Amino acid sequence: MALEGAGDTSLLLDQADVPPIHEDNAAGQSPFLLTCDHYGRLIPRVLGDLGLPPGELTRHIAWDIGIAGVAGTLSRQLGAHLIAQRYSRLVIDCNRPPTAPSSIPRISEATTISGNEGLARDAVLARRRAIFDPYHRHIDEVIDARLREQRPTVLVSLHSFTPVYAGIVRPWHVGTLYHRDTRLPPLLLKLLRGEAELVVGDNEPYAVSDETDYTIPVHGEARGLMNSGIEIRQDLIATPVGQGEWAERLARILGEIEIMLRAQGLV
Ligand SMILES: [Zn+2]
Repeated sequence: MALEGAGDTSLLLDQADVPPIHEDNAAGQSPFLLTCDHYGRLIPRVLGDLGLPPGELTRHIAWDIGIAGVAGTLSRQLGAHLIAQRYSRLVIDCNRPPTAPSSIPRISEATTISGNEGLARDAVLARRRAIFDPYHRHIDEVIDARLREQRPTVLVSLHSFTPVYAGIVRPWHVGTLYHRDTRLPPLLLKLLRGEAELVVGDNEPYAVSDETDYTIPVHGEARGLMNSGIEIRQDLIATPVGQGEWAERLARILGEIEIMLRAQGLV
């Protein structure tokens, strides 16, 4: 569905739609700043179902299954500020540069998203202005404020991945995603690998790049913050029990990392 003349943000999100940003613990004192680009799977009312049957809108192509529960509990346990985005990555992917072809995907895994085909330039801009821009502007402003207040800030970007992608089974339980930061990722890898029976991916199932990612390169690397993404396999966090277990594990590990970083004077 093309939005004719939808350069005006108000045409994409109306009063019945919730704002794109969800936050927990905005006053949290932890050095960790948590982000969650694929937290939700809402679709602005005016876009209907993007031409997809209900079954597709709950799959991993629409959002990061299970991560919302992990992120909320982790934020509480760490006392860390969480900034999350509520709309589906099928509307606009908040971890892609807006210039990337996958920013508003026409195909995801093997599913064609007919509501994303043939979009007018204004319709593309409306999605960016209503969802992508406010989310990333807010992260920017929060980082600005923390730096101004000289508060240590370590960016952790939370994601989950499907256990099987395009027929390929993924063996990892959890993975780190990073590119240029040499401080946080090795500590995370070491402590995750110290957990019994975990298969830990080092930049698996994905690595970060400037072409395919946004949050880590723009808010982590370009701002000079220590940073890493964490990817958890979705079948492990499909239920509240699994989400709680993973939140607890990550809170414990990030707590240990905070102590190590303090000892090195890095936070
Ligand atoms: Zn994700």
